[in-house]
Amino acid sequence: MKHLHFTLVSLILVLSGCNSYIQRTIWQSITRIGEPIPPAPRMITTPMLQNVKLAVSWVGHATALIQIYDKIFITDPLFTNTIGMIVKRAVKPGLDPALLTKVDFTLISHMHFDHLSYGSLDMLPKNGTLVFPDGLAEYVPDFGFREVDEMKPWDVIEGDSVRITAVPVQHFNGRYGIDRGWMGERGYTGYVIEYKGIVVFFAGDTGYNLELFKEIGRRFKIDLAIIPIAPSSGSGLGSQVHASPLGALEIFKDVGAHYMMPIHFGTMLFGSTSNPLGPLDQLRAAAADEGISDRIVGLEVGEQRILY
Ligand SMILES: [Zn+2]
Ligand SMILES: [Zn+2]
Repeated sequence: MKHLHFTLVSLILVLSGCNSYIQRTIWQSITRIGEPIPPAPRMITTPMLQNVKLAVSWVGHATALIQIYDKIFITDPLFTNTIGMIVKRAVKPGLDPALLTKVDFTLISHMHFDHLSYGSLDMLPKNGTLVFPDGLAEYVPDFGFREVDEMKPWDVIEGDSVRITAVPVQHFNGRYGIDRGWMGERGYTGYVIEYKGIVVFFAGDTGYNLELFKEIGRRFKIDLAIIPIAPSSGSGLGSQVHASPLGALEIFKDVGAHYMMPIHFGTMLFGSTSNPLGPLDQLRAAAADEGISDRIVGLEVGEQRILY
């Protein structure tokens, strides 16, 4: 098995050619293949709290557990030790999915291996709705969720007084590389969740865009924005498809949310991880410069925070 894994990884290293970011990512994973994955610094022990209006927990990477009153939402669930059997976790998930007795809505932002994880979807309770972007139906096996919805940007679904709107973000599609050719612009989205007056925006994976986030801000009065802050760094706003911490802060300001929770850093062995928490430090420094530190909800893996 290990031999097969090594052969597969070698093949990908060859195919990735001169893309040093991919090579570094894979190399870090194989050189640590036998090492145990460190436990999460904290663990979520009570996924469903009593008497809260809005609570949020970071399971790791793009996986957030959101509680709005009596409803539970999970974003891009990732509980497996590797993604695509290749990229290894740097830290274990901060939640044992067996503790979840229900998930009302499971939101998938796009089809990349670190966001659409079959092994992880399999671990979730199936008593709620699974939502994913237009174009993913042929990629998502039937796990037996009570309901399944495929959404295009600005589509709305409503159920049990919850309203979910798919909102446009700036990323890219394709799971196996070659499939980008026929998917057009479909296959990736953000979401806005509304329930009992609480509004949460989940950006999935996105680069900064001058128009998109201002438009989302015009349409919703957002309490909490969950925004990826890596893998991009430096003094700019990031790449076309991944906002840097500074780009993520601009997204936060554009959508006009009260709180920002940074995600998509410090969890997987992606590229250069000499300081996995570097993106969070950069975000915090930029927020301090603007005098909005108290609105940044920078959680550790496994940490749970009651906001209202
Ligand atoms: Zn992605
Ligand atoms: Zn990602």
